[in-house]
Amino acid sequence: MKKAVIYGKGNLQIAEMEVPRVEPGKVLIRTSFCAICGTDLHVLEGSFPVSFPYFPGHECSGIVAEAGEGVTMFKKGDRVVWIPYADPCGKCVFCRMGRGNFCLSRTRAELGGFAEYALMEERKIYLLPDAVPLEEGALMEPLSIAVHAIDLAEIKTADRLLIIGGGAIGLLLLQVSRISGATAIIVSEPDEQRRRLAKELGAHGVVDPRAENLAKTVQSWTAGFGVDVVLEAAGVVEACEQSVELVRRGGKIIFVGVVPQGRKVSLSHFDIFSKELVIKGVSPNFLTHQRAVNLLPVISLKPLLTHQYDLPHLVEGLQAFKRREGIKILIRC
Ligand SMILES: [Zn+2]
Ligand SMILES: [Zn+2]
Repeated sequence: MKKAVIYGKGNLQIAEMEVPRVEPGKVLIRTSFCAICGTDLHVLEGSFPVSFPYFPGHECSGIVAEAGEGVTMFKKGDRVVWIPYADPCGKCVFCRMGRGNFCLSRTRAELGGFAEYALMEERKIYLLPDAVPLEEGALMEPLSIAVHAIDLAEIKTADRLLIIGGGAIGLLLLQVSRISGATAIIVSEPDEQRRRLAKELGAHGVVDPRAENLAKTVQSWTAGFGVDVVLEAAGVVEACEQSVELVRRGGKIIFVGVVPQGRKVSLSHFDIFSKELVIKGVSPNFLTHQRAVNLLPVISLKPLLTHQYDLPHLVEGLQAFKRREGIKILIRC
């Protein structure tokens, strides 16, 4: 079978490997789709810390090929989604505090979504709701990140939000925050097509930060107070820095986008101090996957799926992603 391997910075290959043999408690899945995530590109470009060889791809959907001994929840032919995060150790201080996503001895070995087959523990797999096509199911993982980010933002009814970045994560945040009760949401995004899509998906206002004054727009939208929550989903240094100006006193800033490791963001200490700001980061966790699966049928995902490539052309897909073409790029495995 074919499987993508990153051997080091800039060196991605589609390797030929044996199809894994099914093991007790595990399920062999014929992968249908795996979507490209920003971190796949960051790993390839060397700006996201991993150990090599690295098996990219973690936004997957597929069909069960064979269920191992003792598997009770899945059978051959089931349509499924899964997240191939590596297991936490269960023993370290963070695992014992219930924070397995911070596990000290977690390797990043699992992943490997860009492959024809995956062998996965039963507990990491979810049945895809009937109404959801396999293409859309591949977005369960980014949707789980959006759910986690909205949890951290503690959105209240009638909250006013600014979402910076109208890419896939920004557009998922937009939809989840609406469901969670936000009633005024501005999306800041330089790309016209993405702004239009944000409008269609329920943004109350859109701003082109290159042509308009974002701070002024936010002020006029909020009678000078600033928004309750800023969700930064672009990973842009300047946007992170500006967010302390745009949020109201006592408001929250959630950093969902990834600024490359090593890049510094300089924030006004005085603004954070005097406005009593809360700033949170969002790291993937295991606790929002089920809720993301539950949300799949009620979120609009189809408009986000703009491009498809076959697995041997993964690098072309990554290049298209880098050129910011479309919204979400699916790899047909
Ligand atoms: Zn991702
Ligand atoms: Zn641990």
